[in-house]
Amino acid sequence: MVNKTIVVASNNKHKIQEIGEILSDFHIKKASDVVDSFDVEEDGESFCENAYLKAKSLSKYTNDMVLADDSGLEVFALNNEPGIFSSRYSKEQTDEANVKKLLKNMEGIKDRSARFVCCMVLIINDTIIQKEGYVYGTITDKPVGDSGFGYDPIFIPNGYDRTFAEMDSNLKNKLSHRRAAIEMIKKSLEELV
Ligand code: IMP
Repeated sequence: MVNKTIVVASNNKHKIQEIGEILSDFHIKKASDVVDSFDVEEDGESFCENAYLKAKSLSKYTNDMVLADDSGLEVFALNNEPGIFSSRYSKEQTDEANVKKLLKNMEGIKDRSARFVCCMVLIINDTIIQKEGYVYGTITDKPVGDSGFGYDPIFIPNGYDRTFAEMDSNLKNKLSHRRAAIEMIKKSLEELV
């Protein structure tokens, strides 16, 4: 395979940078480099279905490889809620309201174990590579820390005593579900390219 360009189905600067650092042998483009507006209805029933919908939709606009992800938090005592609805869990659909709703739903629950999940889908012509990364941890009973986004202030990864929102972003990115998924994609790419 000669063409080593990957178009990422996102315009999020941090995501593009993180993916670029790990897939450093590849030329990484963002969605807006190949199409003006890119908005996909995420109506799949799993993280991987949603990631695939994004990747498939973007692949209509380019012949390069396309990479898409979908991620969220699963709390085991809540039957894996908020799951694929992580970003739209509360009526307000803000990080703060989502965290508040989750903590309320966990009141009185002793088992606070949870995991972040990230599914990445890479489309290369007719080949589809799908990898899921995880980071396991526990949910605090109140938000702590100002860094990061989403549920970071209430998630303590196993083996640590600080929430993701209290960590330096380099450390969080090293431990993250996204990192785990990208590393697996990288391995598959090395076998293919
Ligand atoms: P997306 O797949 O990057 O759009 O993330 C979906 C939602 O899952 C976000 O809006 C957050 O609520 C949650 N989420 C995903 N990854 C993280 C993370 O690393 N920290 C905190 N929340 C996350």
